[in-house]
Amino acid sequence: MVQRKGPGVRLELPTLQNWSCHNCGGCCRQHDIEITAEERERILAQTWSREEGVDPDRLVEETGGGGRRRWRLSHQPDGACVFLDERGLCRMHARYGEASKPLACRLYPYTFHPDENSLRVGLRFSCPSVVSNRGTPVLAQKATLLRLSQEVVPAGYAGVAAPPLVSGRPLEWSQLHVLTGVLGELLGEDQQPVVLRLLWCLGMLSLLEASRDTGEIPFPRQVGQLAEAVRRELPGLSRQPMQPPAAMARRLFRMTVAQYSRKDTFQAEQQTWRYRWKLLRSIWRFTSGKGQTPVLQEGFRPVPFVDLERSCGEMTPEMNGVLSRYLQVKVESLHFCGLAYYGVPVVEGFASLALAVASACYLARWLARGDGRSQWQLDDVQRALAVVDHHHGFSPALGQTSFRARQRWLWTQREVTRLVLWYGQ
Ligand code: SF4
Repeated sequence: MVQRKGPGVRLELPTLQNWSCHNCGGCCRQHDIEITAEERERILAQTWSREEGVDPDRLVEETGGGGRRRWRLSHQPDGACVFLDERGLCRMHARYGEASKPLACRLYPYTFHPDENSLRVGLRFSCPSVVSNRGTPVLAQKATLLRLSQEVVPAGYAGVAAPPLVSGRPLEWSQLHVLTGVLGELLGEDQQPVVLRLLWCLGMLSLLEASRDTGEIPFPRQVGQLAEAVRRELPGLSRQPMQPPAAMARRLFRMTVAQYSRKDTFQAEQQTWRYRWKLLRSIWRFTSGKGQTPVLQEGFRPVPFVDLERSCGEMTPEMNGVLSRYLQVKVESLHFCGLAYYGVPVVEGFASLALAVASACYLARWLARGDGRSQWQLDDVQRALAVVDHHHGFSPALGQTSFRARQRWLWTQREVTRLVLWYGQ
């Protein structure tokens, strides 16, 4: 979080992204909306009746955990928000106006992340309009975002330190800005496939991690030289050796994919033991990688695991475009490290981001194969990315020690690069 400066905070907006809500109602079906005690009081004071489709006795409910009383909006029997109407619109918005809704609803799909003396604005790619870049440029929405940011930053907030490069190697904010600037430049090289750009970034971070900080070369020059080196030394994709990842790496990677592809719907949570048993069996099948894929959410049909090891062809420029926009928005908004991403160091966070993209590619193959196609297409990548980003940086499971240890092992064994290369083309 960031210290308030005068009447408001400074915002850094993503330069490539458009968004407007197209009222698909997806967010009102997918997310639990946690509300504050004050929002709860406000909602309970509203007048609703069963005739209008809202049960006045089930507007909000208590949600467990955290050692304090917490609340969320209730759900309809099909899992949708209690206020969602049959046209996919919000009844509370329609009757009491935008400002009456909980902050979480008004923020979505925007996210705010602390920088040295500004807020970086990101977006959740779980919203189909974000994935497909539909709507008004985010740059033109500054006034609305400034208003929202006033509600996000607590008054008197005193700022935070920049996340370290790796554990025990601190970074200044200015150094982090240099690093994200160079990552952004590498990711923005549109003439190259996004997988190659990602390999450049991973290569540059690996060299930076291995280099000693003697202070002899200024940080910006060091990072610039390393970026030049990887661009020069890493051959084009057609000349990259296609070595399959090690069996253990693929097993751990499938466990990561299982985590991304699960969908903990409200109805599923209600059938606690049956749901948990099904989840355990599914994760076991992902771990073994034998037989057919289990169905973890709608739209993913069972296919042989072995089929997902086969390429679905080259990415089209549009597929490259959506993945590179995703990566650039995440880097620009710092939504891959520090407070914005489970408090992890920069290198670990970027490796996790690369694995999220590899997971999206795996899921896109699954969607294509499940549809009986040998070639993937733009819609597969967009849907897969929406599934992955529903969890990435938001699901508490991804910040747990076991998940992070798995990701770190893949990084230290140099398997992240192989996984990106293997599943990304
Ligand atoms: S998922 Fe996106 S487009 Fe759909 S209702 Fe929510 S904000 Fe609007």
